[in-house]
Amino acid sequence: MAIDKTQEYWHGENAEDAIEYLVEYSENNVTKAAIIKCRQCNSDILTYKIDSFEGAIEITCTSCKEARLLLDSEDYWEDSEPEEAICTNATAPNST
Ligand SMILES: [Zn+2]
Repeated sequence: MAIDKTQEYWHGENAEDAIEYLVEYSENNVTKAAIIKCRQCNSDILTYKIDSFEGAIEITCTSCKEARLLLDSEDYWEDSEPEEAICTNATAPNST
C-alpha cells in the first residue's frame, strides 16, 4: 500500500512504508534502509532508546527482552544520554 499523507502526521501501513518515508524525508540522501528484527525471536516489535546527537541507538525486543546496540552505537553509548523513542500515534494505556 501507500503512505496516507492527508493528515498532520503521515500514516503508513507497514515497515516498507517507513523506508519509503525515510528516503523521501532525506530528499534521497538515504537510499537504503533495513527492517530491524530481533535476532533471538525474529519479532519486529521493538522499543528504541536514541541519542541522536551521539548517534547511538539501542533496541529492546518487547517479546523476549533482548537488547542490543545497533551498528557502531557501542562506541558512543557510554557518553550518550539516550531517550526512549515514543510513537506519537500510539495509544498509551493511561492516556486520556
Ligand atoms: Zn526477541
